[in-house]
Formats: sequence, structure tokens, C-alpha cells
Amino acid sequence: MTATVSRRSFVGAMAGAGLLVGQQRASVLAAPGGASSILTNAAQDAPDGPHTLPDLPYDYAALEPHIDTLTMQIHHDKHHAAYVANLNKAVADYPDLQALSVEQLVTGLDSVPEAIRTAVRNNAGGHFNHSMFWETMGASGTKPSDVLTSALDRDLGGLEAMQTAVNEAGTKRFGSGWSWLVVQDGKLAVVSSPNQDSSLMDNSGTPILGVDVWEHAYYLLYQNKRADYLTAWWNVVNWDVVSQRYADTLAS
Ligand code: MN
Repeated sequence: MTATVSRRSFVGAMAGAGLLVGQQRASVLAAPGGASSILTNAAQDAPDGPHTLPDLPYDYAALEPHIDTLTMQIHHDKHHAAYVANLNKAVADYPDLQALSVEQLVTGLDSVPEAIRTAVRNNAGGHFNHSMFWETMGASGTKPSDVLTSALDRDLGGLEAMQTAVNEAGTKRFGSGWSWLVVQDGKLAVVSSPNQDSSLMDNSGTPILGVDVWEHAYYLLYQNKRADYLTAWWNVVNWDVVSQRYADTLAS
């Protein structure tokens, strides 16, 4: 293993993961001067390192009554902020790694020096997953595109069957983690991951939708009833964003 990270190898890994798409949707999470991202949040200033906490793309209260305001405030301002701060801390002594986007870190963990690999896995994963999560919510009343609807019918038995599968994967995930709708070899699939792992880390697919099943995502309103949170969560999904991610992933 080498401590020197090749930018080219990360970009290659990204292309392989189907993420070099949507050039017009430039993201602050992309590497400086570099590749685009499936994430589109605007960023806040973060003087402590290359990674920044993106603004929530809507008001903290926007997801009421399904997700409460205080949960959103703590989740974004404390939990996500901590992942960003700890990621910056982890790469503080690694200029080569500082030049990489969070997506590049998540897809290239094998090239991260072992001394900080776990910290990068947890905190780049947390930063990446939450940046995506905020954008996946906030537009009640939207619907999957025709193309995505057809793919859901073809691969997973339809929208409702997919939602049931995501809820089951999330409910069964022991401890903390995520439940995902991913594109795997051109087909839709449902997978889950522990902790802040991404489906990109073990090549189980490119995520187009993910729901956070850590207790911090739901405990204030739902306490131990994770299944109730998962059922309610679908009311706040932004299907326009998810449909666009699906189109971008197919096009790559
Ligand atoms: Mn979370």
C-alpha cells in the first residue's frame, strides 16, 4: 500500500462507479477543479479543512409532521457537522487526500493510508450519505419518473414492493446504518449497509435513494418505533431528485 494517492486512480474508480455524470450539476463536494457529483448541495464556509457542511436545501421545519424540526436541527447541525469536522481532522496531515472530493474518498478507501482509513470510512461515509440524504427529502407530492417507474416494475415488482423492501432492510439492519435503493449492473436493487458505509464501498451499487436508520434520525418523534419512521419517511421523498439520479446513473 502506498501513502501517495493517485488522483487518476480515484477518478477512474469514480467513472467505474458511474459517478462521472451530470457535468452541469457541479457540486461543491467535487474535487477542486475536478469531477462532478451526484450531490448538489451548496456549502457553508468551513475554515477547518477542504470539506464543508452543505446547507439544508429547505427549512428545518419543512418535513413536519413526518420528521420533526428539532431532529432536523440536531441531525444536520450536530451530527452531519461532526462528520465533516472529523473528516477534515483525519486528512489534516495528508495534502494528497485533501485534494480529493468526499465521493472520491468513499470510492477509494483502499488507497487511504491505514492509519486513518477507519476515520475516513466513517466520516467521509457520514458526510457523503447525509449530503445525499438531505437532497433525497423535501418535496412531498413528487412522483418517480416514467423511466424509473418502469424500472421499479421490471426489477423490484413496482414502487410499493420496493418501499416494502427498503423498509424491511432498514428494520432488519441491526444497530445503526442505512437502507438503499441502488443501481447494480444496470438494474435496481435494495441493499443495506452498517454504520456510515455506502453501497459504493463494497461495490453493491450506485445509490439513488437512501434512508438513515440510525436512532438519531427518528428517536425524538418515533422512539423505538423504527418501522413507523420508515413508513412515514416516504411522505417526504423528493422523487424528482431520485429520478434524476437514476437517469444520470444510467447515462454514465
Ligand atoms: Mn444520520
